[in-house]
Amino acid sequence: MKIVLLGPPGSGKGTQANLICKKYDISHISTGDIFRTNIANGTALGKKAKEYIDAGSLVPDELTIKIVEDRLKQDDCKNGFVLDGFPRVRTQAEALSKMTQIDKAIMIDLDDEEIINRLSKRRMCRKCGNPTHLDNLINGYCEKCGGEVYTRADDAPEVIKQRLIKQKLPQDVVDFYKDLGLFEKINSTNSMEETFKLVDSILSGIKE
Ligand code: AMP
Repeated sequence: MKIVLLGPPGSGKGTQANLICKKYDISHISTGDIFRTNIANGTALGKKAKEYIDAGSLVPDELTIKIVEDRLKQDDCKNGFVLDGFPRVRTQAEALSKMTQIDKAIMIDLDDEEIINRLSKRRMCRKCGNPTHLDNLINGYCEKCGGEVYTRADDAPEVIKQRLIKQKLPQDVVDFYKDLGLFEKINSTNSMEETFKLVDSILSGIKE
């Protein structure tokens, strides 16, 4: 099963990707996570990507497409994968279609007001990577594992604004998948379980 998850930041793509991967035993590929790991490790890729990420901009295609291409060649992707945060522009969608054939592109949509609300209150766990809404922290710690939490640098209010302006999913990406008959859209609900039911009803229609 090869799935693309589209949608604005904060729509819960990462959470849904985790749930899909757990249920179907496939790999989660998040370009944002790959960049953040590279930034944390001080690699050349991380140094280049950081500039763009800190400004709320997209990292250029020549860096982004290559990391996905390399990642898809790894053994754990043979069973299938969920791409979370890629493609974000048409050129990436076209490049991906040359690498592999995907089964569905699912857009998880959310309006801007709710995106700002979720991102500004999102805290990440240093230990397990889980995002937790500020209100759901347990004594200030991760609700899942009790780890210490931090705010992603690009979840600062000014960067959120820039991300919403500069990273709106272009209609031509939607059209690309509509033309292939692969596009599905659902609305993100407050409960991840409810959203997953919607996602899973789409996945259950995919023939292996
Ligand atoms: P995310 O964790 O998906 O919100 O990604 C964090 C940041 O990484 C984004 O705000 C972009 O700057 C960058 N990024 C992630 N995926 C892509 C992509 N497919 N194309 C360009 N930039 C990306």
